[in-house]
Amino acid sequence: MNFFASAPVALTAALVPEDGIPESIEYLALITIGLVGLLVGSFLNVAIHRLPLEGETVSKPRRSRCPSCRKTLTWVENVPVFSWVFQLGRCRGCGWRIPIRYPIVELANSGLWLLATAVTGLESPGLLAVEFIVLSGLLVATCVDFDCFEIPDEISIGGMILGPIASLALPVLHDSTWVARWMTEPGQLDGGVDRLGALLGSLAGLAAGGGVLIAIGWLGSAIYKRDAMGFGDVKLLAAGGAFVGPGGALAAMMIGSVLASVVGLAGMLRFFCISWTRARHRGNKRGIGRTLQVARIAGRYIPFGPYLGMGIGIVLLAWEDVLQFLPRFS
Ligand SMILES: [Zn+2]
Repeated sequence: MNFFASAPVALTAALVPEDGIPESIEYLALITIGLVGLLVGSFLNVAIHRLPLEGETVSKPRRSRCPSCRKTLTWVENVPVFSWVFQLGRCRGCGWRIPIRYPIVELANSGLWLLATAVTGLESPGLLAVEFIVLSGLLVATCVDFDCFEIPDEISIGGMILGPIASLALPVLHDSTWVARWMTEPGQLDGGVDRLGALLGSLAGLAAGGGVLIAIGWLGSAIYKRDAMGFGDVKLLAAGGAFVGPGGALAAMMIGSVLASVVGLAGMLRFFCISWTRARHRGNKRGIGRTLQVARIAGRYIPFGPYLGMGIGIVLLAWEDVLQFLPRFS
């Protein structure tokens, strides 16, 4: 066995005793995962802030600074969630209001990690680690896309590279990917899909995820005569597909489209109500058609990345459950 074959097996054997994990260790592990999730979440805040900026990288400058007064933060000012709470959401140097998004991102990352642990279980530490990385990456992509309508290449292209590597190291990622199952000897499927099958499943997912959005974008621009799909979304779904396979990528796209439509329609409705009431107050009888038109334009500009990311996350953690909702063709 080569390194890639033996390392995950040895890791699992070292971490998981034969008669299961004792309850006390389980609690300890959950608390640790929750706390490390908060710490990593605070690093994600730095990434969200710096990735779209020119000239700053995640590791330079080394210490965190207040974005307003550039004061370098001491460790007391840098404790996830707690610092924000005890400083009542303000910088101790200049009183700048620290956005509530900072503690929310930290809590969200911790929550996502615990959710993954609850779904996947401590028995598969390798799989769990991959899920942690993917979920944190999606969280960063979501926040950056909300901020500036773009998805950092560090996340999307990083995922496109990591996905096939992770699939090769942990074929269990593709146990439900049809390409991987199809490539595996039928008699061996009980032991999971084989390594080459998982790699091909990952590459097929990458191609399917990117391909379907390129096709939709091409169709959209043919119909509407404008760019309908950002290339960042294409790369993000390609990266997601590399982890969840071609069927998973399509499902993630469908879930993402439904979520984005619901949020988009709600936004349009809200905007319509606001501008309609305002027009009535001013006594200006703006036609309902004009108001609708304004609301339609306002609702069009929502980023797709966050919803695509949610779709990928849902498929990654709960593919078996998602399958229950899809129509059966067999
Ligand atoms: Zn400050």
